[in-house]
Amino acid sequence: MYYFYINYPNFKDRTILIHEGECGHCQNGNGMHESGSNEKGFWAGPFKELIHVEEALKSLIKLFSYQPEIGNHTCCK
Ligand SMILES: [Zn+2]
Repeated sequence: MYYFYINYPNFKDRTILIHEGECGHCQNGNGMHESGSNEKGFWAGPFKELIHVEEALKSLIKLFSYQPEIGNHTCCK
């Protein structure tokens, strides 16, 4: 399963990365500290296929006034 993370505080400075669920940063959408907290952003997913998460992310950023960079984290390159 694949996820991506939207971070509010430094949204414009960051590349939005796609992660695999098993990635240490992602942990199936719970994040690095397994807090499950969405205080500073949120995980979107799970998406079954990498192509689905890419399509969702591209559609989502079309709605933003600013176009952030998107990419794959090392876990799913
Ligand atoms: Zn990752």
